Amino acid sequence: MDDHPFYSKDLDEETLFVVTQTFKALSDPTRVRILNLLFEKEYSVNQIAENLHLRQSTVSHQLRFLKNLRLVKYRREGTTMYYSHDDEHVINVLQQMIQHALHH
Ligand SMILES: [Zn+2]
Repeated sequence: MDDHPFYSKDLDEETLFVVTQTFKALSDPTRVRILNLLFEKEYSVNQIAENLHLRQSTVSHQLRFLKNLRLVKYRREGTTMYYSHDDEHVINVLQQMIQHALHH
């Protein structure tokens, strides 16, 4: 690990804050399901609600939360917003964690 460019033996406060906040963001079943759905392609709020059998208000609430942490982004097409994930690191951590859960 010593030659890893980002490795340091201790972490500064801001880094620790972002790391722990991100784990908190992932510690909610609905947010995990939404981020997992967004792994491969973008979806509208409606499509997310339909695919995951969730209420639109629930989906919108969680998307706002994820947007604030810059874990998702959207693009507007007419009146429809299409959401996609906005961070390769976090989506990869999530996929690793899902693989971890599946091999148990
Ligand atoms: Zn594992």
